[in-house]
Amino acid sequence: MQPRHLAFGAFGLVLALMSGCAGPNEEGDADQKPIVGVSIFPVADLVKTLVGDEVRVEVALPPGASPATFHVTPQQLRDLRDASVFFMIGGGLDEWLTALPEASEADARIVRLSDGIELLAEEEDLEEEAHDHGHGHSHGSGNPHIWLDPILVRDRILPRLVDGLTAAFPEDSDAIGSRASALADSLAALDGEIRAILAPLEQRAFIATHSAWTYFAARYDMEEAGVIHAHPGQEPSSRDLAALIEVARDHGIPCVFSEPQLGATAVRAISTDLSLPTFLLDPLGGPEEEGREGYFELLRYNANQLVRGLGGTGA
Ligand SMILES: [Zn+2]
Repeated sequence: MQPRHLAFGAFGLVLALMSGCAGPNEEGDADQKPIVGVSIFPVADLVKTLVGDEVRVEVALPPGASPATFHVTPQQLRDLRDASVFFMIGGGLDEWLTALPEASEADARIVRLSDGIELLAEEEDLEEEAHDHGHGHSHGSGNPHIWLDPILVRDRILPRLVDGLTAAFPEDSDAIGSRASALADSLAALDGEIRAILAPLEQRAFIATHSAWTYFAARYDMEEAGVIHAHPGQEPSSRDLAALIEVARDHGIPCVFSEPQLGATAVRAISTDLSLPTFLLDPLGGPEEEGREGYFELLRYNANQLVRGLGGTGA
């Protein structure tokens, strides 16, 4: 099928340009490709390495948005409906898409990557058992940030991606399988790189914007000692902030980690109160974010930022 796509690709583009406002069936060859939908960018980047060029991978969460505060557009619903398979994290992170009544007809093709993984408890789940804040980020079902541990990705997420993709594209199962074993090797190598980057760190405790780094910290002998936004999408209370300042003093925390998607106001308040510098950690990255434009780049970037913020120079 590759030669046909190559031959008609340019012709399709010309037609699309000539037709002005093309409908869904007139936009040229690119739109004939099967679609795989993924809720968040870093997982979509991994899926791209598994499927090759004949599949279009669509990311539901736009760059810069937080899963905690995001609202779905009609176009994203269409992508979900048209997808051969749709991968989401589950665990309360990204139900915004599938919770809509319009999404019900696509349900059969949805794969929740956290299914079967024992999710770590969120601090606030322990404190406030079964209290529903209604903003759809990580309450009651555990901490959903599993993609930030590359070994968890290799051992638990990758097999589910392979299952979902081979069910959608059975004729490509051999190619998907061999790309998956190459990806597993790359993830193991990434794990080694991250260990080497973090090795010189003596200060292993840190304060994050929200609890995105719990799995990463557990994997790499770090400690997410406190988070500024225990409830993403809500401003922390002055009581929360006072408790966090205690944590920072107790642990000798040398900096505060901000995030591109969340919590700028509260991060600034804490760093001013404590006279500490801020360094960025990014749980999501994006195609336009230099140095965070793929899964591997994103993980290396964050490991280096931890070293920079906590008392080293980073790579
Ligand atoms: Zn999050």
